[in-house]
Amino acid sequence: MKGLFTFSLAVLFTFASFAKSMPANYFPASYDQARSEFLLLAQETGGELTRFHIPSQTDDDLSLEALYLAAPDSQKLVIIISGVHGAEGPAGSAAQLDFLKNDARKWREKGLSIILLHAINPHGYRYKRRVSENNIDLNRNFSLDPDLYKTPNPSYDKLQSVLNPQGELTSYFLTTSRATLGLLRAITLRGVSTDEIRNASVGGQYNTPKGIYFGGTQPEIQVAILTYYLSPILRHYADLLVLDIHTGLGEKGVLYLISSSSQTQRDREALLEIFSRPSEETYELTTSTDPGFYPVTGDITDFFHQLAPNKRVVSVTVEFGTMGLGLVSQLQTLNRLIAENQLAMYGARTAKIRNRVQERFNELFNPQDNEWQQQVYQRMRFLYDDSLESFLELN
Ligand SMILES: [Zn+2]
Repeated sequence: MKGLFTFSLAVLFTFASFAKSMPANYFPASYDQARSEFLLLAQETGGELTRFHIPSQTDDDLSLEALYLAAPDSQKLVIIISGVHGAEGPAGSAAQLDFLKNDARKWREKGLSIILLHAINPHGYRYKRRVSENNIDLNRNFSLDPDLYKTPNPSYDKLQSVLNPQGELTSYFLTTSRATLGLLRAITLRGVSTDEIRNASVGGQYNTPKGIYFGGTQPEIQVAILTYYLSPILRHYADLLVLDIHTGLGEKGVLYLISSSSQTQRDREALLEIFSRPSEETYELTTSTDPGFYPVTGDITDFFHQLAPNKRVVSVTVEFGTMGLGLVSQLQTLNRLIAENQLAMYGARTAKIRNRVQERFNELFNPQDNEWQQQVYQRMRFLYDDSLESFLELN
């Protein structure tokens, strides 16, 4: 009995030390609150803060903040990114603010240089859209290669009418059931495979500016800003670890680390050393070709391989799942994106319909669900504590 008791106590203590509870107000309530807190905490660190104004047709108060905390003689740089997809911003900001409060000084003293890039897409963050003001998905737009913007996507073109219904939204139910029927019809009657639907719709497209997953016809200003800002800094480092925080894809509460498709064998080996403790309680390591995930073009994690071609680069999408990976969940996710895009392009007949579409969309990318938020907090804490130590020790 005693043995059993000791054992349970040990388990209890291990779990208690791992599963700290989320502090109150961990998730910022809005873009403005996140930015003010970021600025305040950034100034306290004494690091080099740079602010970039993001021009807009309607809003003169949008900015991207970059904080650089250089450790003397360091060869290793960690970059933590939030809000590439605006609506997913709160989880990324929360993780960055927590890092500023509890980790930044410690890791700099240990010898890691750090850059935090806050709210890459501030317009989407403030107005709760994934995309930029130009309807561009920035995670399909990041590249130094102009040919990206000519990438064809014939499967997308085939599904055009299903993915991008036109005209004012008259009913959420009607829009989503039409989309579901259209997709099922494509599968059953036109022989389109589910993989083809997934790759077509979410992989990125460059010829339908009003459509979902539009990657643009040229780089957005953020591509120029990051190139200009990061290029001179990256020269000083041999090793880069990039954590780009997202939400939405995958099983609820699970943290997926999706590796860049541009990594070399050497990058891959470093990745496996840094993230060596995948488990149900921590994270899953996936690649964009695993079931439920998908290869995309113009991804910011690939962009770091272009910016620092001769360095060792471990660049991962840190994705907190919200909906699930099954076919039904994927259809639901796609439906919500289709409806939100139709709303943004053509409007809704009533405020009630508009609210319904926005609520469903927000549930997908910023769930107000305490259990999910706790999981984000705990998994992010583990990721910082464990992977930064491993990155520091990397030979
Ligand atoms: Zn995202």
